[in-house]
Amino acid sequence: MRIPLIVGNWKMHGLLAEARALAAAVRAGAETLNGREVAVAPPFTALAAVREVLQDSAVALAAQNMHWEERGAFTGEVSPLMLREVGCQFVILGHSERRQYFGETDAMVEQKVRSALAHELVPIVCVGETLKERESGQTLEVVTTQVRRALLALEAAAIRRVVVAYEPVWAIGTGRVATPQQAQEVHRWIRNLLREKAGEVAAEVRILYGGSVKPDNIDDLMKEPDIDGVLVGGASLDAQAFVRIARFSPARERE
Ligand code: PEP
Repeated sequence: MRIPLIVGNWKMHGLLAEARALAAAVRAGAETLNGREVAVAPPFTALAAVREVLQDSAVALAAQNMHWEERGAFTGEVSPLMLREVGCQFVILGHSERRQYFGETDAMVEQKVRSALAHELVPIVCVGETLKERESGQTLEVVTTQVRRALLALEAAAIRRVVVAYEPVWAIGTGRVATPQQAQEVHRWIRNLLREKAGEVAAEVRILYGGSVKPDNIDDLMKEPDIDGVLVGGASLDAQAFVRIARFSPARERE
């Protein structure tokens, strides 16, 4: 059974006081949520503060990126050991902003995924096409390449522990959400790709949608059979909106 997962990506937002207040409000709002998992991904500098606020709560801590090495001369980077020490359970990898602005390649994402799994962090692996690629009919090809390069060298047991996030680049931060049908088409495609490699394990992998998710579109997105949760950017900075997203309805089990 796939438990729906709702993750808030705070990106480069959140000085300590803001981050603590936002985490406290999410904690309060998520207290009575059953049958779904919630996580927030603050900036690195706020991870320890947010961890304290979330202590003994149902809300998990995620990081927005990491290096694959445990330590070394990698100025400005953060390692999986550091993320574990500060209490992270999840790490977002290969976000399109990392790919677009910081030159992350599929090969780097693959190394990060392996390292995250080796350190018992759950990788949330982001894939998705640009507007140009969608308009030229290349969506499935682009997503196939990204999924294959990031994941398909893994054993089935490792694939079981991964979360995939389909985030069409043209929908991120633009207010332009993919229709539930557009998202479902790609989610089903991704699950079939995983099935080729991992067989029935693919049915256990959570595939999140990301791109302008808001309280007014979440319920329709979550009706789709292969959408197992969401990765939320902008709306996750508003605790009320984020909690409403996490309270999507109707609740149902995914098998
Ligand atoms: C994201 O950054 O992962 C994202 C989906 O952003 P937004 O919800 O703002 O489109």
